[in-house]
Amino acid sequence: RQLARLQGMPLSVARPASSDTVTELKLEFALRAALEEDFRQFHLVYQPQMQLSDNRIVGVEALIRWEHPEIGLVPPPRFIPIMEELGLINALGEWILRSACRQLRAWQDAGIFLQMSINLSPRQFQDSRLSEILAAAVRDAGVQPRHIKLEITESVAMQDPQGTIEQLRSWRAQGFQIAIDDFGIGYSSLEYLLRFPLDTIKIDRAFVKDIVASPSDRAIVRAVTVMAQSMGLATVAEGVETQRQQDYLDAIGVTQIQGYLFGKPMRADELARFYLAHQGQTTEAGVAAQLAP
Ligand code: C2E
Ligand code: MG
Ligand code: MG
Ligand code: MG
Repeated sequence: RQLARLQGMPLSVARPASSDTVTELKLEFALRAALEEDFRQFHLVYQPQMQLSDNRIVGVEALIRWEHPEIGLVPPPRFIPIMEELGLINALGEWILRSACRQLRAWQDAGIFLQMSINLSPRQFQDSRLSEILAAAVRDAGVQPRHIKLEITESVAMQDPQGTIEQLRSWRAQGFQIAIDDFGIGYSSLEYLLRFPLDTIKIDRAFVKDIVASPSDRAIVRAVTVMAQSMGLATVAEGVETQRQQDYLDAIGVTQIQGYLFGKPMRADELARFYLAHQGQTTEAGVAAQLAP
C-alpha cells in the first residue's frame, strides 16, 4: 500500500514535486507518531505583550512549536489544520492548556506575574467538553482563571455568532478572560463586536503592517480602538516590527503591543530573564519617579 510505503520512508526524503498531498500524508504520519511519543516533540514559546501607557510587560501569548527530529520545525499554520482534520487537535490542545497553566504557576512562584493568553483552535472551540477541560487545567495547575485569556479568532466567532456569545458567557462565568484574535473588519463583525462578551481585541497584523503608509488602515485601527475603548476593552496590536508602527499605534490609543520589535516568542526560561531585566528597569524608574520631589 502507498501508505505503508510512505511510513517506511525516511522523513527527510526530499518532498515529492508531484503533489502536496504526499507531503501532507508525511506530516500526518509524523504527527500521529509525535502524539504517541507523549508530546516530546512539542514545546511552547511565549511572546511578551507590552502595555504602552507604562512600558510594562502585562502578559504573554503561548505559541506552540513542533520540532520533528528530521523534518525540523514545522510552523503551526502548517500542522494545526491537519490536526484539526484528523481530530487530533483536542489532545494537543489539552496538552497546551495544561502546559501553559503549569508554566504560569511556575512563574508566579518565582514572583513573575503575567496574564497568559492561549489560542483555541476552531475544533477545540466547538468541543462540548472544553469547559470541563479548562476547569481541570487551572485547578490542577493551581492558577486562577482570571489570569488566563482565551483567544478565539474573529472568523471562528463569526461562524455561529449566537452560539459564540453563549460559549463566551459561560467561560466568563468560570472567570476566564476572552480575547478576539486576528480582528479585522467586516461590517457585520462590528455589530457583533459590541455583543460578544470580551476583554481584549487583538488587531490583526495585516493592519499593523501598513499603518505608517496607509491612511485607510490607520482609519480602521482608529475606529476599532475607539470602539474598544468605549467598551472598556484592551486592544493589542499584533506584529509590531518597527518603532514607527509603535508610535502610530500609541498615538491612536492602542493599549498594548505584541511583536518582534518588543520581543519575539521565546522559551520559558528566556522569557523569565527578559521579564526580570525589563520589569526591573521599569520598576527602578518607577521608584525613582516616586522619590523625586
Ligand atoms: P496568532 O495567534 O495570531 O499568533 C501570532 C503569530 O504572529 C505567531 O506566529 C507569532 O510568532 C507571529 N508574530 C508575532 N510577532 C510578529 C511580528 O512582529 N512579525 C511577524 N511577521 N510575525 C509575528 P506563529 O507562532 O507561527 O503562530 C501562527 C498561528 O498559529 C497563530 O496566530 C495561531 O493562529 C496558531 N497557533 C500558534 N500556536 C497555537 C496554539 O498553541 N494553539 C492553537 N490552537 N493555535 C496556535
Ligand atoms: Mg493568538
Ligand atoms: Mg493573532
Ligand atoms: Mg495572526
